[in-house]
Amino acid sequence: MGKIVSFSNQKGGVGKTTTCLNMAAYLALSGKKVLLVDLDPQGNATTGLGFRKAKLKKSVYNVLIEEETVADNVLATELEGLSLLPSNVDLAGAEVELVYKKGRERVLKTALDKVKNSYDFIFIDCPPSLGLLTVNALASADGVVIPIQSEYYALEGLSQLMNSISLVRTHLNKDIRVFGIVITMYDGRSRASKEIYAEIQRYFSKVLYENVIPRNIRLSEAPSHGKPILLHDPKCTGARAYCALTEEFLKKTEGE
Ligand code: ATP
Ligand code: MG
Repeated sequence: MGKIVSFSNQKGGVGKTTTCLNMAAYLALSGKKVLLVDLDPQGNATTGLGFRKAKLKKSVYNVLIEEETVADNVLATELEGLSLLPSNVDLAGAEVELVYKKGRERVLKTALDKVKNSYDFIFIDCPPSLGLLTVNALASADGVVIPIQSEYYALEGLSQLMNSISLVRTHLNKDIRVFGIVITMYDGRSRASKEIYAEIQRYFSKVLYENVIPRNIRLSEAPSHGKPILLHDPKCTGARAYCALTEEFLKKTEGE
């Protein structure tokens, strides 16, 4: 049975998509079957894997609103073992359209449960909000990975996110856990980065991943080539960091 992992943080630009996409790619490289669900109307994971979202007929929108199956909307990617349930322009309306649907918080869960057996991991890239799309992701997930950008005010909003996860645990998904917190855009030479790591460790030591992701220009240019970092520049520091983080993630989630 595959594990469903939601990459969530209502703060924008903290590295959700970069982390979700690159970890998914490394898992696929290691022989796992992975489905990446792009649940963000911005469609950055879709673009980052080389698809033009304006042209896509297949999408997670069709699954959420048109009641089509996941299997009918999945795309193969350049990387064997990695499939994508893409976002497209329609998804921007889904949040509002979902409001009128029966069981609106569990639409995604119902759909993903039907394909859970076909994958080792299903990764969901969330939009930067705590709206209905993110609630659907959290209702579906076995666990959450929270990327946090290494900067001042990084912890702002974290308690709100933890609170939302608790609410989901009470009302929608009693087994949901926090799999881990990953610090992104880390600068080993900056005092701020070290202080933030120490502070998160103080409060969340059990779930903080030891591997941090450095700020690395290659990571930010890979999406414009439509490639995960392992196909763009597998030797750069960002690639090595995501490779190590993925190993740590696997050890922690499978060693349970
Ligand atoms: P949003 O909330 O808009 O969905 P996000 O949390 O998904 O954003 P990303 O899109 O992954 O964040 O990253 C934000 C920007 O920072 C992107 O331009 C990305 O390429 C860049 N970026 C992410 N991680 C790194 C890194 N480690 N080093 C350098 N640039 C990075
Ligand atoms: Mg994103």
